[in-house]
Amino acid sequence: YRHGQASEVVVSTPNGDVAIGRDNPIAIVAGPCSVENEEMIVETAMRVKAAGAKFLRGGAYKPRTSPYAFQGHGESALELLAAARNASGLGIITEVMDTADMEVIGEYADVLQIGARNMQNFSLLKKVGNQSKPVLLKRGMSATIDEWLMAAEYILAAGNPNVILCERGIRTFDRAYARNVLDLSVLPVLKTLTHLPIMIDPSHGTGKSEYVPAMAKAAIAAGTDSLMIEVHPNPAKALSDGPQSLTPDAFDALVKELSVFGKTV
Ligand code: PEP
Ligand code: MN
Repeated sequence: YRHGQASEVVVSTPNGDVAIGRDNPIAIVAGPCSVENEEMIVETAMRVKAAGAKFLRGGAYKPRTSPYAFQGHGESALELLAAARNASGLGIITEVMDTADMEVIGEYADVLQIGARNMQNFSLLKKVGNQSKPVLLKRGMSATIDEWLMAAEYILAAGNPNVILCERGIRTFDRAYARNVLDLSVLPVLKTLTHLPIMIDPSHGTGKSEYVPAMAKAAIAAGTDSLMIEVHPNPAKALSDGPQSLTPDAFDALVKELSVFGKTV
């Protein structure tokens, strides 16, 4: 790998610069799967900020398995993310699904997310490599570590050095209990292969809120640089990924538990 030398990614947010990477506190990204309305996104932002999150996540453009499922509110959701950013000062992370949406999303996002289903969308990788915002590159659900790193290389080679690698669970033979298998072995493996910061997403990794705390702790024990946790004010009513979403209270309790590692702030 020719371009994997940045050991941290510094993201500028209204609350100041946040560095993600080896020698920094573990940065926590939290928020709903989808931005649904102004009240829920602003409320979630304020609650996760108070609990210790540094970034708010929320999808405006959603990659749904079914074309009949909620697809995200698009540009109007970006405006709601801006309202939540103003209210909380949190940095915003949201997904870019299509090169055509890059420009408008770039006006609102502090970090651009490339979803698992687009990990090898090479024209999209080149596009985000050509702009200045940091990129969160999720691992494809059936991608090898080499394929994932080569996808990152597309962004780096296009001129953007600020890539964060996010493990979000891979497909295996048994999906009866957990949605995916969260591959925490990537943590020690990637550290031998790249200096790029690593994020672990136990929400998509397990698909069930009750499994999220254990895997978040395991990720810290295994050396993650950052975490992504889905949080929704009313998971039972969520338009997407409710079963894996923590309530703001559960998220607050989890962040307090994570503090015993002494690596979060
Ligand atoms: C998400 O973060 O809501 C998402 C769709 O994630 P993934 O691409 O990992 O499935
Ligand atoms: Mn989701």
